Amino acid sequence: MRTTRNLAALAALGLALSACASEAGNQATESAENTAEVQEDVEFDAGTTMAELNEAGAITIGTKFDQPGFGLLNPDGVPEGFDVEIGKLIAAELGIAAEEIEWVETVSANREPFIQNGQVDMVIATYTINDARKQLVDFAGPYYLAGQDIMVAAGNPEGIQGPDDLAGKNVCSVEGSTPAQNIRDNYPEATLTLFDVYSKCADALTNGQVQAVTTDNVILTGLVAGNPEGFELVGNPFTEEPYGIGLTLGDTDFRNFVNDVLEESFENGSWADAWDRTAGAITGEEAPEPPQVDRY
Ligand code: GLU
Repeated sequence: MRTTRNLAALAALGLALSACASEAGNQATESAENTAEVQEDVEFDAGTTMAELNEAGAITIGTKFDQPGFGLLNPDGVPEGFDVEIGKLIAAELGIAAEEIEWVETVSANREPFIQNGQVDMVIATYTINDARKQLVDFAGPYYLAGQDIMVAAGNPEGIQGPDDLAGKNVCSVEGSTPAQNIRDNYPEATLTLFDVYSKCADALTNGQVQAVTTDNVILTGLVAGNPEGFELVGNPFTEEPYGIGLTLGDTDFRNFVNDVLEESFENGSWADAWDRTAGAITGEEAPEPPQVDRY
């Protein structure tokens, strides 16, 4: 009798344990998709951008649509990547669910005007913080530190090891980007071909129109991952590109809020988690140490 009861108790315990295990399993799957827990009851000071967005229950974010690992449209037409995940983390703290984010494609050259004209509430798009841009928009962050690098055809037939080797070569970059400006200013012997997006540079390298593509290492890494037989990364970064979140110039409350959200995500692991699921899954590299936010 006793044995039977014990067995029954054990069986019940086993069931309970397996129920726990499967719940944990479900949670793990959900968090693989989106760790951002939407804040239900947040209150913001009246008149702030945070209050307006929270009230609207929606936000418009500009990002890239053709950069694997950072912002790339999936087959359903929804962007995925590290920048997209950062956007979801910020939206969640504003009480806005991921489904309520309207994603707008911002290419390198239209990021400032899209912020200035109010076409987007923010830009998260491999967007380097620099002094010239700070005249036009505000930046929260940085939330990642990239560096300009070079991508060449697999096997590196031209033997390009760094920017000095671009002299006399056709090199592709994107209009309105810091890498294009750097080539123009400091490596004028390179012949620059400019497109609006980096995927067109990858095509130009494939068809032999250019011998190199230059932009941030992490963008190039994504392109190499998409065509490892065709491309390789030189792997010798020669600038610093701190990625910031572009906001309306002078909206200091909003900038402080976004900086707070970033710092919190650095501390609670959601930033590293977002990296691991996106860019990190492509590079195979663990999340680096988060950078220091610059509250300039
Ligand atoms: N981070 C650089 C920039 O903001 C290059 C990448 C890009 O064009 O988005 O211009």
